[in-house]
Amino acid sequence: MAESDTFVMPSDEEAQAAKASDSGGAGASDGEGGTSSGASLRAPAASSAAVRKSMQGNKGKNTKPELLVRQRLREAGLTGYRIHWNKVPGKPDVAWPGKRVALFVQGCFWHRCPHCKPSMPKSHIEYWVVKFDRNVERDERTLRELEDVGWRVHVIWECQLKKRNIDATMADLLPQLAAELGKELKTPVGEPTGADAGGAKRPAEGRTDAKQAE
Ligand SMILES: [Zn+2]
Repeated sequence: MAESDTFVMPSDEEAQAAKASDSGGAGASDGEGGTSSGASLRAPAASSAAVRKSMQGNKGKNTKPELLVRQRLREAGLTGYRIHWNKVPGKPDVAWPGKRVALFVQGCFWHRCPHCKPSMPKSHIEYWVVKFDRNVERDERTLRELEDVGWRVHVIWECQLKKRNIDATMADLLPQLAAELGKELKTPVGEPTGADAGGAKRPAEGRTDAKQAE
């Protein structure tokens, strides 16, 4: 734990750089959102190209992973969804409000993916630890709130949508969704995986060998 409440603040120059790379990202799905406590943290500058790429990749809405998922949903005939449905906690990226089914597409870096375990930035550790803890806590809270009001929630991670993983991910996810939505899948997506066993609350499992790919 931190010895004091004092965060190592980045210099103005760094802060500006961070602000630039953060724009449109942290504010949307991953940022302080205006309501959470204090929002006194400021983003440090990205310390490496990889981190910067992750930060910039976090655009909030209509990210490439989201678009990929929606494309697969449409191909499978699982349409009729709303995107960024803001009438329930967490504003699910994809939602079928009538069926109370929600799907989140999470960025591995910001939401601390349990599958690919993205690396920690090397500097401003205190900042990042707090930031990530907040994100993860918020995700858990959102999940609970949705489930408390009868929603079924799926979480798909960015790394599960990489080329070598996406087919397996969808083969697991789509039948579950179809069952929950009471729809037929348009195209066969591999073997059915017992979609109605246990309420399908868990996120689709990616391959365990999924590494963070370039
Ligand atoms: Zn991941």
